[in-house]
Amino acid sequence: MPIYDACIIGAGPSGLSTALSASMKGASVVVLEEHKKVGFLDERCGGLVSERCLRNLKLSLKGEYILNRVSEAVVQSPSGLLLKIELGGTCLVLNKVMFEEALASRALNNNAEIYTGVKVKKLNFYKSHVEVETTDGTFKSEIAVDASGALSIFTPIVLGLKPSLRRPIPSAQAEVKIKGLNEDEVHVFLGRYIAPGFFGWIIPLNSNKARIGLACEHGNPVLFLKNLLKKLNVKEVYSIIKWPIITGGPLPKTFESRFLSVGDAAGQSKPTTGGGIFTGTLCGLIAGMAIAEKTEGLVNAPRFYEKTWRRLLEHEFKMQLLYRRIFRKLDDETLDYAISLLNGIGWRGLEDFDYHSRTIEDSLRNVNVIKNIFRKPNLCLLTAIILKTIGSLLVHSALE
Ligand SMILES: Cc1cc2nc3c(=O)[nH]c(=O)nc-3n(C[C@H](O)[C@H](O)[C@H](O)COP(=O)(O)OP(=O)(O)OC[C@H]3O[C@@H](n4cnc5c(N)ncnc54)[C@H](O)[C@@H]3O)c2cc1C
Repeated sequence: MPIYDACIIGAGPSGLSTALSASMKGASVVVLEEHKKVGFLDERCGGLVSERCLRNLKLSLKGEYILNRVSEAVVQSPSGLLLKIELGGTCLVLNKVMFEEALASRALNNNAEIYTGVKVKKLNFYKSHVEVETTDGTFKSEIAVDASGALSIFTPIVLGLKPSLRRPIPSAQAEVKIKGLNEDEVHVFLGRYIAPGFFGWIIPLNSNKARIGLACEHGNPVLFLKNLLKKLNVKEVYSIIKWPIITGGPLPKTFESRFLSVGDAAGQSKPTTGGGIFTGTLCGLIAGMAIAEKTEGLVNAPRFYEKTWRRLLEHEFKMQLLYRRIFRKLDDETLDYAISLLNGIGWRGLEDFDYHSRTIEDSLRNVNVIKNIFRKPNLCLLTAIILKTIGSLLVHSALE
């Protein structure tokens, strides 16, 4: 049995991007996936990503894995007020299975090995290597990479961190037939009766098929989803899945001397939306580079991984965590005020689908936005929002 440079647990987007970048630089890697095939469940993800995400992975923007393109969102407040916004560029709706197959085939072309139907059970660390115990025998490698997703058990054990730090919240999603969709628009639904503490979504796949889902901090997401489907008058539901999304931001540490944690396993998903394909694959590409560096003798390769992804993403994760903390404390009335205010000031939407902090920073620099805020009705709304938010933050921190 060879000693691989890296043994990667999980053939999701994060594991496969790690394998791709490491193998492109000549490292020997093996990916172990517990399911019978790569990309086994398309329905478990909305599949909405920026074009930047595919460009990072050097995947074509015309591939068959792209089901649809969207550039706008209609946000619905708890009382039904609508706000139409831009998504910050064209976004792609992926078939996650085909996307992962495309990543896997590129990694295989670079001599990565991928074994499916192999579940990793345990990691044993030695001074010279790591032993990866699986349902199909033992693999040996220089480094083990945990890319096993939101329910990973390896990262908490190896790094001695609580799994709850990743703040998983339950979500449910269905693929449905639905009439009268505008293919170019995503829909977002706010309110405690729709999705308490989070939001619901419609991601169109074409003009009569969509992924409809939600996540919620309290209650059963499947029941909330059934209510939403009823409200939207959806008659034909192909499948419903339930799976956690990660909203806690990255873990305080994502490496050990022979161990890297990547993607959802490391908490590297956007805290505002739970979207983890862009951030997970970017961190995967960096992990792959670190593995290749280690192959060339860089002793501090795991540290290089953590330093590099933090340099690129930490500020964004921190800002998104702040927005998320504020958002989850807003009651329905405040959300209504916020939508009215954003309509009132003519807010155009996200500046960048991946870097949400840029939207706030750019809005605060925009003279027209500032002028509009100081018009009377908007100023009243803003004052009400600030007072209510401070009030609920104080109540929540007293309760906590
Ligand atoms: C309902 C829903 C909608 C979402 N919508 C979006 C969206 O629109 N856009 C977006 O960017 N993100 C979205 N996400 C989040 C996105 O799916 C994840 O962030 C992303 O899949 C994380 O990739 P990953 O490779 O880290 O983990 P995963 O995709 O979960 O992959 C982990 C892999 O590891 C395998 N594995 C696990 N344990 C073992 C083991 N012991 N041995 C071997 N293999 C193992 C699993 O089978 C799996 O294939 C959504 C998530 C949910 C739940």
